[in-house]
Amino acid sequence: MHAVVLGAGVIGVTTAFYLAKRGFRVTVVDRAEAVASGASHANAGQLSYSFTDALARPGMPGKLPGLIFGSDDAIRLRPMPDLNFICWGLHFVRQCTAENYGRNTATVLQLAMRSSGLLDELRREFDFDFAFRKAGKLVLYRRAGDLAAAERSVLLKRGFGCQTRVLTLREACEIEPAIESMRGEYAGAVYSADDHLGDARLFTMRLAELLRDRYHAEFRLGCEAQAVLTANGRASGVQLVDGVLHADSVVACLGAWSRSLLGTLPGGQPLVPVRGYSVTLPQGSHAPSVSISDAERRIVFSSMNGEVRIAGFADFVGFDESADRKRIGMLLDLARDIAPLAADYGASLRRDWGGFRPMTANSQPIVGPARIPGLWLNCGHGMLGWTLACATGFDVAQQLASSQV
Ligand SMILES: Cc1cc2nc3c(=O)[nH]c(=O)nc-3n(C[C@H](O)[C@H](O)[C@H](O)COP(=O)(O)OP(=O)(O)OC[C@H]3O[C@@H](n4cnc5c(N)ncnc54)[C@H](O)[C@@H]3O)c2cc1C
Repeated sequence: MHAVVLGAGVIGVTTAFYLAKRGFRVTVVDRAEAVASGASHANAGQLSYSFTDALARPGMPGKLPGLIFGSDDAIRLRPMPDLNFICWGLHFVRQCTAENYGRNTATVLQLAMRSSGLLDELRREFDFDFAFRKAGKLVLYRRAGDLAAAERSVLLKRGFGCQTRVLTLREACEIEPAIESMRGEYAGAVYSADDHLGDARLFTMRLAELLRDRYHAEFRLGCEAQAVLTANGRASGVQLVDGVLHADSVVACLGAWSRSLLGTLPGGQPLVPVRGYSVTLPQGSHAPSVSISDAERRIVFSSMNGEVRIAGFADFVGFDESADRKRIGMLLDLARDIAPLAADYGASLRRDWGGFRPMTANSQPIVGPARIPGLWLNCGHGMLGWTLACATGFDVAQQLASSQV
């Protein structure tokens, strides 16, 4: 059976891997010239198995008017006269109840915990280097109210076997002494020893090499998919910019661009791109070993490959990249202000980057069959695509394989 996977981000390549393991002949298509050129390129690298909190939560709707007028430097919210965006906003507001927040957070948590086990298996079977490190993760809170809300979330997650815990600032400093050189006034932290770090791009590249070498998968890079073709009411292939590619099944892993090729998603679910940014710099004298987030400022410091990656912000501005320079400048200023010794901020060897997170309104990815038989989806991973890649890749491959028997 020939499966075509559209999109060579971390989700597409991981999906291709699990399909190949099940005996499918696999072709991966991407319009970019290299794998991991989209959101998977230079993300924060966190395998955030314990921090799966949904974006839609109680209290959010009341903050939206302020966000439109720039009340939070970390979030840009530009209202757009676009049906998909309006629909997304309405779905999002509906998800902002305590009940929906709890359900969405717990669903993604369970997926993330399975993903952790699957990545462990993969690492045991194929020992390739993607800067993986059992780093742990600390989320620092400035306001006592936010820490109390985080504590409620910790209790919810403990019910599912997740081992996060609330720490005083002193306890957090004992785990990560670099916090002492940070300038924020923190009320406390939430810590997970089970969260790890790894370079999503390196992982995607290594897995693509393995797919080529061991499973004889084909990669059609620099090749745009223009339409999913059907015959007798089911997906029969893909119209590529340079011809037709026939297939028994097609799996769309197109990240933030999923709607542009597929139109409506199952249940009419809206999906929006959310722009985020990162800068990668040489380590400073007090670079953290643990991955550290400042929850209020929405910034992350991750040490990978002997460098520090600083990532953050969430801009709801469509596919607009025109403010990238300004936003990256703001991210750097914020990082320098919060953690002046974490990185060598003056270094000329700096890599700036922006990516579009594929965001659903309930923060859950869309994994499973599309309306057209033979077409499958694995998209909408939002803030956690790297974390969830193994579980959702495994699941869609399993569903597809079971549908063939
Ligand atoms: C700043 C930032 C920090 C982040 N940090 C983390 C983190 O620490 N941990 C975590 O788990 N997640 C993180 N994420 C989220 C994560 O990066 C994404 O969820 C994940 O990369 C999505 O992967 P994907 O494969 O679905 O999308 P992408 O990587 O964007 O891949 C989609 C691919 O589809 C291709 N494509 C689109 N249209 C077509 C077409 N018509 N024909 C052919 N190809 C097409 C694109 O070229 C692209 O390569 C972060 C994201 C950002 C922006």
